[in-house]
Amino acid sequence: MSGNDKNGNLLGELKACIKCKNPFMAKQKQQVCDNCIKLEKLKQELSQGVNSWKIKLEGSIKEMETEVKQIQSKKEIFLERIKKRSALVNKSIDLLKKINESQDEKYIEEYKALFEEMKKEGS
Ligand SMILES: [Zn+2]
Repeated sequence: MSGNDKNGNLLGELKACIKCKNPFMAKQKQQVCDNCIKLEKLKQELSQGVNSWKIKLEGSIKEMETEVKQIQSKKEIFLERIKKRSALVNKSIDLLKKINESQDEKYIEEYKALFEEMKKEGS
């Protein structure tokens, strides 16, 4: 009994979807139902969205890493400065002690030179 050829061509034939097993009206050689096709498309779009989000995220992580590196090198510069200054301060305390103890001109000259160095470091 195939008296509905015309309708059959328009609506396709009733088949079970190879993915979800639900019956659907297949067009030509269609083996997957429209719902599954839509779902597949949606999945692709989602994974594309996730991918572009991932790329963005990786980009911002790289930016942050660069910033952290910059901060670290600044920190090292500051630490070096602090070390140098505290060394100068210690040296000056030492010299002042020697000046007080010995009244030696040599130490006073040394202290003057050190004071100039400290002024340079302070700016
Ligand atoms: Zn299906």
